[in-house]
Amino acid sequence: PTSNEKTFEIAVFDGDGIGPEIMRPTLDILGEVAGSSGTFGFEFQSLPAGAGHYRDHGIALPQSSLDAAREADAILLSAMGLPDIRYPDGTEIAPQIELRFALELFAGVRPVYLRPGQGSPLRIADKGGVDFVIIRESTEGLFASHGKGEVIRDEEARETMVITRGVSEKLFDFTFALARQRKESGKGPGRVHCVDKANVFQAFAFFRKIFLERAELNPDIEAQCAYVDAAALWMVQRPQMFDVIVTENMFGDILSDLGAGIMGSLGLAPSADIGSEHAVFQPCHGTAPDIAGRNIANPLAMILSAAMMLDWLGREHGLEEMVTAADALNEAVTTVLSSGECLTPDLGGSATTGEVAEAVLAAYRNGS
Ligand code: ATP
Ligand code: MG
Repeated sequence: PTSNEKTFEIAVFDGDGIGPEIMRPTLDILGEVAGSSGTFGFEFQSLPAGAGHYRDHGIALPQSSLDAAREADAILLSAMGLPDIRYPDGTEIAPQIELRFALELFAGVRPVYLRPGQGSPLRIADKGGVDFVIIRESTEGLFASHGKGEVIRDEEARETMVITRGVSEKLFDFTFALARQRKESGKGPGRVHCVDKANVFQAFAFFRKIFLERAELNPDIEAQCAYVDAAALWMVQRPQMFDVIVTENMFGDILSDLGAGIMGSLGLAPSADIGSEHAVFQPCHGTAPDIAGRNIANPLAMILSAAMMLDWLGREHGLEEMVTAADALNEAVTTVLSSGECLTPDLGGSATTGEVAEAVLAAYRNGS
């Protein structure tokens, strides 16, 4: 490391199933991206957690791993959980969800972006115009009821939805800042849609009210409101109208899978879970146990998640070169996808995980 190099400590959860297979080449790529920059570097700390760890040690997310993740500058996570390893009550082992609550990662960021040549089930003419981001509130909403719902005498079941002013204000401020950042870099028109069901539920009317209050403080960004049913229809019929969507936890859960569907493959969908102090970057897909151990997992969603991490760290620390590197890594993925020569089987190709990662690196070296 040179004297003017900033080194970031990255906590790495490589998890279960295909997790380690997609994490390994992604760390190699990050290492090379940093090495060629000369201005930033990474120290990766691999942390145990997940279903395999629960099977072997009786705990899914050790306190020491959580503590180390808290200390890190950013957290990279592949995927955790296995179908046949569960808690005694039958629920899934998902430390990634525990992390969201423990680190107060209120904003789940899911880009929906169609690259040239990328297969999408949409039959709209201008697929090139599909480029928006869904922000899913990730710590409250209907999910706040998790573990607290009740079934009364086997006759009636109830859950409770929670929307707080504190979290909602942080969520909307984050959303307007992202829309502004996209506008400034020419990626979007500077428009936010608040997606809710304010016509039926008090909690959503409150959510919308706070949204409109925060919108007044951000007059440079166009603020729109939409009901979730209409928004789902528009995502399929005219997705080009969206720039940034912000929504409640449960609606965000559903709409972001719709977004991944629009992109044509789970293997291409990255995500970030961001809070005031911490951020976790991980692909939207799970551990894909059906293809684990065969070196055919698509690494692109993991690599794109790493690109989101570069972008976030660069902006948080005012390192322009990191933001540029994130864009270049994104471009490299676009190059590999649009050439169509080196793709894993989920995208119709026959390349291995490592070959695709190598192709991304080659494109990165050529482009940056
Ligand atoms: P989770 O509950 O963790 O979300 P899941 O059961 O919904 O997991 P995934 O593990 O995401 O599902 O897998 C769904 C399907 O997508 C599987 O057939 C899997 O092989 C495929 N898949 C997921 N990720 C990838 C990837 N990176 N490359 C190739 N195929 C993938
Ligand atoms: Mg799933």
